Amino acid sequence: MTTDVLIIGGGVIGLCIARELAYDHSVTVVERGRCGMAASNAAAGMLGAQAEAYGDDAFFRLCVESREMFPGLASSLLDETQIDVGLDRTGTLLLNFTEADIAARSERFAWQKAAGFAIEQLPAEAVRREEPFISTDVLGGFYLPDDGQVDNRKLVEALRASCEMRSVKIIEGTAVDRLAVDSGKVTGAFARDTRFSAGTVVLAAGAWGTSVQAGFELPFLIKPMRGQILMFRTAKRLFKHVIVGPRGYIVPRADGRVLSGATMDDAGFDDSITNEATAHLIESTAEISPSLGSLKPQEAWTGFRPYAPDRLPVLGRVPNAEGLILALGHFRNGILLSPVTAKLAAAELRGTGSMPTGFSPSRFYPAAA
Ligand SMILES: Cc1cc2nc3c(=O)[nH]c(=O)nc-3n(C[C@H](O)[C@H](O)[C@H](O)COP(=O)(O)OP(=O)(O)OC[C@H]3O[C@@H](n4cnc5c(N)ncnc54)[C@H](O)[C@@H]3O)c2cc1C
Repeated sequence: MTTDVLIIGGGVIGLCIARELAYDHSVTVVERGRCGMAASNAAAGMLGAQAEAYGDDAFFRLCVESREMFPGLASSLLDETQIDVGLDRTGTLLLNFTEADIAARSERFAWQKAAGFAIEQLPAEAVRREEPFISTDVLGGFYLPDDGQVDNRKLVEALRASCEMRSVKIIEGTAVDRLAVDSGKVTGAFARDTRFSAGTVVLAAGAWGTSVQAGFELPFLIKPMRGQILMFRTAKRLFKHVIVGPRGYIVPRADGRVLSGATMDDAGFDDSITNEATAHLIESTAEISPSLGSLKPQEAWTGFRPYAPDRLPVLGRVPNAEGLILALGHFRNGILLSPVTAKLAAAELRGTGSMPTGFSPSRFYPAAA
């Protein structure tokens, strides 16, 4: 079959790009399993542009730009699909338990304040007034009103529905094994003996991105970083904010589910749920809220964050392969970065803009060193 754009991988990144390009291209998504069931299903859905930042760099600015795209994305998905993606901009609260926490975070967030980003330091009473079910050991906190969360499972469901409404062809249960390359140009891909021909191929296969045979050398590997999450359930929603403690975070959903995450284990593609991780997550939850931590977790799951050697996204064209765009390596922030990735990939493909050079695959080629 022939299509303008072939997207390999139907996670949040592939679906978001497909939806964007479907305005003016015929688009096919080929997904090995079911769309949105890998990392995009496992995530906690935090939109933590500020909470996750350690410096005012291109990556931070990309995260902020993407975070600001969520209200528009959520409302257009609601209009189109009637699916509410649970965008919640109540903000993120970081808890301080020691004077050392306060000092470290004051220093860490000073540059954000100086650059004009919203951040408030709160005394213990104010934090407990906001969140009555947290630990009484809390000395205070930092409040980031513009960070928030989205229900990532609803997001992929809505993206998929929107893609279908925009005539994106979605082929599930089909693993691409190799790209089709003719005279240095990528012209499609093969899944066993089936050939998909395309004007442009977008590789968005998450942690498996560099396992698809390219037929030419890619000077870097995308690897998996396992994350484990526990889900607690309360009869009604007890927490207003995403709450970050010293050793983990909790993400309260509107229906009373509370996600506690997440570990960072370099364990290849082993999807086990380990006793150590479960014990650690229960402990970090109890540190934030002893009453929540005393409940029995209802569910546990793992997922694989896709990461590049420098842990930054890999976005854009590959120097030695015309017709190929990479959208890989979103690591800890792929849900957050999905709308801006789609915007940039679409502009690159349409020739109306180009990907920021700091995230280009070119950085891994010797000439860029
Ligand atoms: C525990 C955990 C917590 C996280 N929390 C957050 C968070 O709070 N906020 C945030 O922004 N991000 C978070 N992330 C990161 C985020 O989930 C990822 O960065 C994001 O989902 C990556 O999306 P993706 O589409 O690239 O990958 P995936 O969702 O993994 O999708 C890739 C798809 O490609 C398919 N595929 C692979 N190989 C092939 C092939 N050969 N042929 C066809 N299809 C193929 C796979 O089946 C899969 O469906 C978290 C991740 C984990 C694991």
